[in-house]
Amino acid sequence: MVQATNLGFPRIGAQRETKKIVESFWAGKVTEQAVDEAAIKLRAENWQLQKAQGLTQIPSGDFSFYDHVLDHSVMFNVIPQRFRHLPDGHERNFAIGRGIQKPATETQEKVDIEAQEMKKWFDTNYHYIVPEFEANQTFHLGAQIKTLQEFNEAKALGIHTRPVVLGPLSFLLLGKAAKNSPGLDLITLLPKVLPVYEELFAKLAQAGADWIQVDEPILALDQPSAVIAHFRETYTRLTAAAPSLKFLIATYFGRIDSNVSFIKDSGVAGLHIDLVRAPEQLEHVIANINNTQVLSLGLIDGRNIWKTNLANALKIAQTAVQALGSDRVFVAPSCSLLHTPVTLRFEKRLASKSPELFDWLAYSEEKCKEVQALNNGVESVQAELADNARSIEARRTSAHTTNSAVRQRLEAIVPDQLRRRSVFPERQVKQHEANPLPEFPTTTIGSFPQTKEIRLARAKFTKGEINDAAYYDFIKQEIAFCVQEQEKLGIDVLVHGEAERNDMVAYFGERLEGYIFSENGWIASYGSRCVRPPIIFGDVHRVKPMTVTESVYAQSLTKKLMKGMLTGPVTCLQWSFVRDDIPRSVVCTQLALAIRDEVADLEKANIVHIQVDEPAIREGLPLRTVDFDFYLQWAVDAFLLATTGVKDTTVIHTHMCYSDFQDIFQAIIRMDADVLTIENSKSDMRILGAFSTHGYTAEIGPGVFDIHSPRVPSTQEMKERADAMLKYIPRRNLWINPDCGLKTRGWKEVRESLSNMVAVAEALRASK
Ligand code: GLN
Ligand code: ZN
Repeated sequence: MVQATNLGFPRIGAQRETKKIVESFWAGKVTEQAVDEAAIKLRAENWQLQKAQGLTQIPSGDFSFYDHVLDHSVMFNVIPQRFRHLPDGHERNFAIGRGIQKPATETQEKVDIEAQEMKKWFDTNYHYIVPEFEANQTFHLGAQIKTLQEFNEAKALGIHTRPVVLGPLSFLLLGKAAKNSPGLDLITLLPKVLPVYEELFAKLAQAGADWIQVDEPILALDQPSAVIAHFRETYTRLTAAAPSLKFLIATYFGRIDSNVSFIKDSGVAGLHIDLVRAPEQLEHVIANINNTQVLSLGLIDGRNIWKTNLANALKIAQTAVQALGSDRVFVAPSCSLLHTPVTLRFEKRLASKSPELFDWLAYSEEKCKEVQALNNGVESVQAELADNARSIEARRTSAHTTNSAVRQRLEAIVPDQLRRRSVFPERQVKQHEANPLPEFPTTTIGSFPQTKEIRLARAKFTKGEINDAAYYDFIKQEIAFCVQEQEKLGIDVLVHGEAERNDMVAYFGERLEGYIFSENGWIASYGSRCVRPPIIFGDVHRVKPMTVTESVYAQSLTKKLMKGMLTGPVTCLQWSFVRDDIPRSVVCTQLALAIRDEVADLEKANIVHIQVDEPAIREGLPLRTVDFDFYLQWAVDAFLLATTGVKDTTVIHTHMCYSDFQDIFQAIIRMDADVLTIENSKSDMRILGAFSTHGYTAEIGPGVFDIHSPRVPSTQEMKERADAMLKYIPRRNLWINPDCGLKTRGWKEVRESLSNMVAVAEALRASK
């Protein structure tokens, strides 16, 4: 019998219950106990729901309040020194993710601890907390063993689950050396961590687990053979130590390729592969497992919201069953459903207003059902398959997904549309002459606090409780307030504050053709933050200007320069659920043309600084180096198409955050922006060194403070960062700005942080 399985279920809750309770806890409104109770309830619901859909192997241990990698670190006692004095519990764990700052009281000294670094999880928009390891790191299980607890919790409900654990190699190699342990070779910690894994697995076995899922997503990345040798030794050892457990190694987001070589004689019982991203790998993997191992087929897209073409998936499953026998085949989503919204049950508006499109969708709950339908389908022909085939065919032949004018415009693109008129050094001279700025110009990345009032007004507007004019008046007031605040702070290049934008991608999506919007399609982004990616279902095009009114109004309020603010084509693509019936590169080019038109309109309206954010360009990079060039070619071309249609004196900014830049220096240089602002405050300065050695010569603003934390950085702290930057960046090219937009922060901390930041620029100007 084929098994219907799942790798992980979203933990945010169908109504974002987790976010709500966690944020109430942060606000001091609910107790730790209330938080735990909410989680117990949600986990029970999730397990029941998966069971009801007919899954036979249901994951446990996949829940998290903040991040599963953070939980794993805590479970193994990998807690950076600076947090160790805090009492064990939610408050400390959240502090690791968010940083913590408390004023002194009579009984307590002031607390001010920086958060641990956060990074994008492979090519997703989910962020994990990077484990920090020390040279003399010790690992041990604490009193609370999360994975075991959750397994037992499910057991008490009568649900036998498959515990999910982050595997040792991914745990170590996704981490970094703590500041006090520079140069630490992470792999040297392996002998120390393995006994603790053995202990954990022994406890799970004792509790009655049979299958366990060990996630090793780094197997989808290029790995040197030395690492694969470690995989072989590690799993030979772990499986021998836990003979009653069946290990399923889970890989996802890409192909396992030659890294599969260790699987055969590693003692593991099975391997999960992503056949949505890499369907071509099936044959190779079948040929490289031994004749008892199970293959878990990731056939349902865990990264997108379209119904699966079950007939196609079934063909693949049948190929596997023919080769391996049905006892050795599992069917599953491609990856954890963490990256897919919870359920279509609450998409009432789409269901009633856009039934045609609604019929093409599947969220986590529905995907679990698809897993089950596929499972049934392997055994016998089912009615679900006929229904599914109807939806798939309806989408394929829909008149609403193609626009011939858009297709023609794409065909007509010429190379000149991807080039600025002059090279950067010439532009820089002209730009400084046309619109002079002080040395070390200060700016922000765009958004200012999205206050309760703003959210309330938007909600009223959406519900039709206030009309266009009233809402727009409100937005104008917000813009005016934001401009005033920036003038008071003495910032040089202002922004309008993005009060009118709920989300930097959805805002544009709503103004473009080819998009639809869900009411409840939330997915986790970082910590308690969720995003609701818009859905691109058809050809994208712009019908009228999208941002000009706000930028022009903001500029009218000040003599300072106002920066226009757009989201770049790659980021629009990356942070949407994208149609899967045409290549992503084509969708991206359609988006680029729309942004190009907007840039032209802003320039015409005398906005001379225009920022086109591309925070997600790195995120879209394929996992394998051989695939980089192909992606970077079309992605950078799209950015160029969007931004190069301007005069030399127009200053094009771009912004990127929470990225590793090492693989994309050349691409960033090819993007040919005049100013690049990047997240930098939590990274070391080596990155800036690398920018200059790779030949980056344009202006740059490496962030001087972290915006994901409520803590207010001192001027001295930021000045030290800026001084260090000047070792790599010539004075005339350095901008002073935060890491990213300020929308998630409160005004008080924003004022304090920015005022300290402006003081940094002043101090730098004074020190000739
Ligand atoms: N302009 C956007 C903002 O400030 C950029 C956000 C981002 O890079 N994620 O909010
Ligand atoms: Zn950013």
